[in-house]
Amino acid sequence: MRKILTVLGARPQFIKASVVSHAIAQTDGLSEVLVHTGQHFDANMSDVFFVELGMAKPDYFLDIHGGSHGAMTGRMLTEVERVLLQERPDAVLVYGDTNSTLAGALAAVKLQIPVAHVEAGLRSFNMAMPEEVNRILADRIAHWLFTPTDTAANNLAREGVAPEQVIPVGDVMLDVALHHGQRVQECGGALGRLALRPKAYVLATIHRAENTDHPERLAAIVDALAATARQLPVVWPLHPRTRVMLAAAGLLDALACKVRLIDPVGYLDMVQLEKFAALVATDSGGVQKEAFFHRVPCVTLRDETEWVELVGAGWNRLVSPKNASDMVGAIQAALGSRGEDVQPYGTGDAAARIVRRLQQDLCA
Ligand code: UDP
Repeated sequence: MRKILTVLGARPQFIKASVVSHAIAQTDGLSEVLVHTGQHFDANMSDVFFVELGMAKPDYFLDIHGGSHGAMTGRMLTEVERVLLQERPDAVLVYGDTNSTLAGALAAVKLQIPVAHVEAGLRSFNMAMPEEVNRILADRIAHWLFTPTDTAANNLAREGVAPEQVIPVGDVMLDVALHHGQRVQECGGALGRLALRPKAYVLATIHRAENTDHPERLAAIVDALAATARQLPVVWPLHPRTRVMLAAAGLLDALACKVRLIDPVGYLDMVQLEKFAALVATDSGGVQKEAFFHRVPCVTLRDETEWVELVGAGWNRLVSPKNASDMVGAIQAALGSRGEDVQPYGTGDAAARIVRRLQQDLCA
């Protein structure tokens, strides 16, 4: 039996891991140990995903959150190393671009344990983003680089990664959307609770530091969404950090009169809110793609995106969050629009491909 140790800690990682962990459990010769760093720890940012997506409870919960990036990553490195020394896995699996990703990959490679990176090769080409630093470093030390898109594979080729290490598999988030997406209906759920009519509201999410930690950008986003709310209800599940930053900027109370601010929701409620929205406005990577999976137009409130193919195909409009009227304009232009019929994220079997490859290499 070969042991894979998975390090995860943030909301999108629980969602991505749900399908891969399921595939590992069904594969002969492989077992998995799950290490939750604690980066996201609230029930509605963590536990809800384990329950809804049918995941096993983590074998280790490290309870590390808060503090500066360096302090958080350092504590994770120490604790993950301790678990690795105890478990002695044959491979370490990490997802995406968070501090948990970097700490897991770095702890493993220092112990000469090969690292598998899911969602390898994504680039924003903006080194001011903590995510860009984390993903570049994780890719540099990974042994298996599982890429979600052709663009990601091309980025790695340009950076000189050996071709045999780059393994195009498609996007595991498409697997999750196909697997669990059909569980949601038009009635009940979040739509029922919020009394929203299908296709008659805008769904917004904001959590990137480049937006939350810049008061002028956050204020411009608030203005744009408040203006949009004069036309259509705007529902905004608030990431905990965004709530803190809105409150610190004195924007929360005025905003709450105009926009439907709610706590973060579980995956099934979120899929329902996405699927039946007239439009999605977001700075989330996952939410951009989920809008497309449900063929809902999206406006991305950022200066760049890693998921460029959706901009090219007309499903996503990229607008800098510096200026409220630019954002309102982009939202108006996107409402009711459709993009081209493209399929850049594979066919929904990314998890099976990842696990098959790990089985081949580890059990050979
Ligand atoms: N999500 C959720 N509830 C929410 C907001 C987001 O379940 O209130 C899900 C969303 O459907 C997607 C994932 O979280 O699958 C995206 O995570 P996030 O936006 O935190 O991170 P990113 O994708 O930007 O890394």
